[in-house]
Amino acid sequence: MRSPRRCSRNGCPRQAVATLTYVYNESTAVVGPLAAFAEPHTYDLCEPHARSLTAPRGWEVVRHEGEFEPPPPTTDDLVALAEAVREAARPAPRPPSDAQTQNAHPTPPPTSRRGHLRVIPPTH
Ligand SMILES: [Zn+2]
Repeated sequence: MRSPRRCSRNGCPRQAVATLTYVYNESTAVVGPLAAFAEPHTYDLCEPHARSLTAPRGWEVVRHEGEFEPPPPTTDDLVALAEAVREAARPAPRPPSDAQTQNAHPTPPPTSRRGHLRVIPPTH
């Protein structure tokens, strides 16, 4: 299951609601709604970090002026959620007892004889 996207700032635990994109050839940092896919030169930001972003010297910041909202769950998320619910509803499988069985009944060391039978070499 995918975890929700988090702010890319070090140590920031908040959920990302905006994506910062550096447009290098225009020296512009664009803070917009959360992008559907992470791309090179993009950074997910939480709302406080998105609002407080300042551009490097010589750069311009273009900021999305509306509300930042968490993205609606995608179909993938809904499917994952449904599977998680189904998983939780299922009775817990019994733990494998192989190790225990082997300890209780240790396999005898292999011998050349099996009871009253002997291995007879093939004749030509
Ligand atoms: Zn943050």
